Amino acid sequence: MRIDILTLFPEMFAPVLGASILKRAADPALYEKAAGELTLEPHGAPVAYHLTDIRAYTTDKHGKVDDRPFGGGPGMVMQCQPVWDAVQAVEKLDPRKARRIVLSPQGRRLDQPLVEELAGQPRLLLIAGHYEGFDQRAIDALEPLEVSIGDYVLSGGELAAMVLTDAVVRLIPGVLGDERSAHHESFSAGAQGLLDYPHYTRPAVWQGRTVPEVLLSGDHARIEAWRKEQARHRTELRRPDLLPPPEPA
Ligand code: SAM
Repeated sequence: MRIDILTLFPEMFAPVLGASILKRAADPALYEKAAGELTLEPHGAPVAYHLTDIRAYTTDKHGKVDDRPFGGGPGMVMQCQPVWDAVQAVEKLDPRKARRIVLSPQGRRLDQPLVEELAGQPRLLLIAGHYEGFDQRAIDALEPLEVSIGDYVLSGGELAAMVLTDAVVRLIPGVLGDERSAHHESFSAGAQGLLDYPHYTRPAVWQGRTVPEVLLSGDHARIEAWRKEQARHRTELRRPDLLPPPEPA
C-alpha cells in the first residue's frame, strides 16, 4: 500500500513512521525472502509512506496557505488552492487511484470495520487540516471520505492521520509477522466484534497472583473455549453496546 500524507507539518511524522511496526512495514530489508508471496511496493516493502508539505504548493509569494474567514469570526481557514494543487500533483505520482481521506472531527468515526476496509485499498491519500479547517469548497471539490478519530478536537489532523495509518498498516499482510495477532484483537471480524480476551505471560506466579489454570493445561480446545467465554464476558461488562441484539422471541 502506498500512503500519501498531505500536511503543513511533515516533520511531525518522522518519529512515528520511523519506529516499531510502522517502520518495519516500510523496511525492504525485512521482506527480501517474502518477495512473490506478498504484495510489495516498488522499493520492496508492503508499505510506502510519502509526505507532502501542502505549503510547497501555494502560489502565494509569502508562502501563505490560510486566510481570515468570510463572515468574520475567530481563527484562520485553509485556502482551496494549495490543497487542491497538492492533491493533483501527488495523485499523478502513482497510477493507482488513491482513496482520498480528509481528517476531520466532523467525519465518519474511525472504527475497526472502516480500518479493515481501508487496509484493502492499494493507495490512501490522507489530508490533515489545521486552524479552523479547510475552505468548504476544497472539500466539495475533492469529495473525500471525511474521517474523525473521536468526538474531541485536535489542533491539527496530523495525529489523527498517524492513528489511522497505524491502525491500517498493522492489518496489511506481512506487516505483523504473525497474522493471527490482528485476527483475534478487539473489534476485529475474527473476534466477532468482541473485545479481546485477557493475556498472561511468564512467570506463572507474580506477587502471589497465578495464571488461570486452563492456560497451563496444554489443552487447546479448552483454552480456545475459555478465551471465547472471557471475551464475551468482558464485552458484556465493558462494552455491551458491541454485542449483537438479542434474537426476537
Ligand atoms: N473548526 C473545526 C470544527 O470545529 O469542526 C475544527 C478544526 S481543528 C482545530 C483543525 C484540524 O484538526 C481539522 O481540520 C482536522 O484535520 C483535525 N482534527 C481535529 N480534531 C479531529 C478529530 N477528532 N479527528 C480527525 N481530525 C481532527
